[in-house]
Amino acid sequence: MVKKFRSSQYSEKRVSQVVVRAVKTSLSEAARVWKVPKMTVAGWVEAYADGRLKIDEHLHHWDLASPNGPVTTGVCRACQEERKFRISDNFRGWKPNSK
Ligand SMILES: [Zn+2]
Repeated sequence: MVKKFRSSQYSEKRVSQVVVRAVKTSLSEAARVWKVPKMTVAGWVEAYADGRLKIDEHLHHWDLASPNGPVTTGVCRACQEERKFRISDNFRGWKPNSK
């Protein structure tokens, strides 16, 4: 039986996000944008390749461009999906546009 991978230092949520980025782009890029040591990311990716680490879905982590008008573009730091965001009328924060 394969021992399930678990990081003692990072949350499962963060591990998924970083591995998604590493698989999509590269180890060094994922390490850089997430500020996680490259060796650590390498260990996660290895665990993922071995099947010790499962990634079903990750929580999108939106990096928003500086607002230029009411709408701005957010890019997920993990999967690099893009989405438009607008400032809510009462400034309670960012809300994704409905599709
Ligand atoms: Zn994402």
